[in-house]
Amino acid sequence: MRKRIIYGPILSRRLGRSLGIDVIKNSDTKKNCNFDCVYCQLGHADNNITGPEDVKGAVRTEEVIEDISSYHKNIDHLDYITFSGTCEPTLNLRLGEMIKGIKEISEHPVCVITNSSLVERDDVRSNIAEADFVVATLVSGYEDTFRAINRPVDGIRLENIINGLKAIMDMEKRPKLGIEIMLVDSTTNYPVNCTDREIDRLLEVLKTIGPDEIEILTVSRPPAEEYIIPVSDTRLKEIAFRFDEEFGRGRVKLVLKGLKRNRSSMKHENIEEEVYDLILRRPCTFKQICASLGVDSVELEPIIEKLMLSESVIEIGNVEERYYKTS
Ligand code: SF4
Repeated sequence: MRKRIIYGPILSRRLGRSLGIDVIKNSDTKKNCNFDCVYCQLGHADNNITGPEDVKGAVRTEEVIEDISSYHKNIDHLDYITFSGTCEPTLNLRLGEMIKGIKEISEHPVCVITNSSLVERDDVRSNIAEADFVVATLVSGYEDTFRAINRPVDGIRLENIINGLKAIMDMEKRPKLGIEIMLVDSTTNYPVNCTDREIDRLLEVLKTIGPDEIEILTVSRPPAEEYIIPVSDTRLKEIAFRFDEEFGRGRVKLVLKGLKRNRSSMKHENIEEEVYDLILRRPCTFKQICASLGVDSVELEPIIEKLMLSESVIEIGNVEERYYKTS
């Protein structure tokens, strides 16, 4: 099944209802990223991209504008238009131009979700400065833990990322900056970032960056590595308390699993493609697909059945929580 540039709407605890844009359409790979995070919901990278100059299948600005101008009219309410999906969006150096183009035809705020890998680059910072909101990942203040959890391609260094994030805060025209801290635990001795030592260091580093928001969350979908597990709610709350003390409650968001959202209401042009597009970017449970796309179970069941029969989609997870993902 072909991969479309626009997908969703996606419902998330962070951004509400947002329409997603994928800016790399290389169909040979499941994800187009310069990281291979242990917690990635898209599984392992087949082929890591070393940088923007190495990207195959970069989407053009005109393609995004054309698709978005027809697609977003079909949705009754949207909180954001979001660049994320199966790729790291800052790898496409036309990102700034795309955001400007969207703002000419739409009033919806634009968000970029980035793994922060390229924020040391001036051109990348200028691109994301066009957005209203940038959510940037930072998992650790230690180089070795960062490398163990995010598994970046060669040449990406934590120190440069931290300097790049500081530079965003110093820009004259800048987006709101949220730092996303994905906390992970492990069933083995694998390096994790939920220990006191890690949290102390993250607090120190974040004080030097001074972001507008800090979001603390843990793994909620099946991760790339089996030995990675979510941090317990109790520990998450303890950690959030430490961040609250330092930055004030208004700036710290603790994302716990299970927040329910209202259903989306949208007109569907090809519901089968929309279901496939959604789970290509984010493995979902049956209920999550219904809620995101505003379809009921009677309508969704035969679609899932057909996708599974054609082996485009497989089931993962356990009996309590079964996810659908693309094969
Ligand atoms: S979680 Fe995001 S940054 Fe990490 S490998 Fe997956 S797509 Fe890339």
